[in-house]
Amino acid sequence: MGIMATSRITKRVGVFGGTFDPIHNGHLAVSTAVRDTLGLDEVLFVVTSDQWLRENPPVASASDRFNMVELAVENHLGFAASDVDIVRKGSTYTVDTLTDIQRQLGDLIELFLVVGADSAVSMDRWRDAGEIASLAKIVAVGRPGQAFDVDSFDLSHPASGAEYLEGPMINVSGTRVRGFVEEGRSVEDLVAIEVADYIGTHGLYL
Ligand code: ATP
Repeated sequence: MGIMATSRITKRVGVFGGTFDPIHNGHLAVSTAVRDTLGLDEVLFVVTSDQWLRENPPVASASDRFNMVELAVENHLGFAASDVDIVRKGSTYTVDTLTDIQRQLGDLIELFLVVGADSAVSMDRWRDAGEIASLAKIVAVGRPGQAFDVDSFDLSHPASGAEYLEGPMINVSGTRVRGFVEEGRSVEDLVAIEVADYIGTHGLYL
């Protein structure tokens, strides 16, 4: 007795949440950079629920978005898809995501919450923002067009304690991929080939 569990961390796990509508090369490049720079053992891609109450609900269903994430990550070392936010039902809140993943993986796991710079700047509006920072180390990754300076945040802002990685700065968004499909343009340079095939086969984003 007396040995603190926290001193025996066995795994460093990244938690990368998003709508992934669809997962694209920006997501993959960001998570590869974070995994390799921070020496993470695993990165979980956590797909949000359908969140129909949100102002801009996802276009593709949660199951299509989840299937595309699985296809895109299967050949990447340490990457895996997680359906924890879909299984929970209702709107997705990161505080619940982190709590559920910690419960699934156990106390010996250290969590790193990976967020793009655009998401990081709005974290003060997230539910239970203060608690999020106590559940995971926040890693903010640069995104083209989004200025980010850790020192510019008020100390009560979760991003003020974030570790900032500039990362690969890939200028792709889900919005851009969906726009390309709608215009009949090829998305093979924007998403994994398996994802491009899935979009075509299932007639998504037309
Ligand atoms: P949409 O245009 O549909 O809003 P998105 O690609 O911006 O799509 P999500 O799939 O929800 O949105 O993104 C999940 C996470 O990945 C967020 O933290 C977001 O900031 C980050 N992210 C997405 N694309 C990039 C990118 N190109 N560079 C850095 N971070 C990114």
